[in-house]
Amino acid sequence: MPCLLLDFFYLFSIYVRIAHLMAIKAVFLDRDGTINEDTDYVHKPEDFHLLAGVLEALKLLTEKGVKTYIITNQAGIARGYYTEDDFKNLTEYMTELFLKEGIRIDGVFYCPHHPEGKLEEYRAKCSCRKPATGMLDKVIAKNRFLPNEMVLIGDKNTDIETGRKLNMKKTYLVETGYGLKEKADTKADMVVPNLLAAVNDILENL
Ligand SMILES: [Mg+2]
Ligand SMILES: [Zn+2]
Repeated sequence: MPCLLLDFFYLFSIYVRIAHLMAIKAVFLDRDGTINEDTDYVHKPEDFHLLAGVLEALKLLTEKGVKTYIITNQAGIARGYYTEDDFKNLTEYMTELFLKEGIRIDGVFYCPHHPEGKLEEYRAKCSCRKPATGMLDKVIAKNRFLPNEMVLIGDKNTDIETGRKLNMKKTYLVETGYGLKEKADTKADMVVPNLLAAVNDILENL
């Protein structure tokens, strides 16, 4: 009998260790249409409007110690609609807004390219524009995230494809932004109303 009891605790401790190993450690988020209203080529603080529930969602991720990265295609730079400095200013505005709420973002990565960009320096078929994985590859390697420790949330199927290429544990298509249009032929693991719903699902399964 004592042996059986010991075995039970031993097995349970292995289970706890495995469960911990399988936990979600990194969330990759699209920006426009997922975090803020996508009014096309948003690049000014006054046009940056957070979607409902976003602050709550991001706060939860910070509280649970889940690393949070924003990955965003910014072809407006290649098209000459705004500059990299405009993007960086808006990023600063956004991260300050988040910091005031106690939200920590672990990285913001952007792709300024487009194959048909107007500005030659950004005209490229690059390896960072989603659905390519270039924006994520380095941070994944650096932090040694395993596929089943990562999830991705976005409003377009190009976002979803990025997560699927990396065999992430789960991809979420939000119905904000372009999500309602995109969901008809999505390969996302789950379609959710918004970012908060996705984060709640992630935390339930943590
Ligand atoms: Mg988007
Ligand atoms: Zn790029």
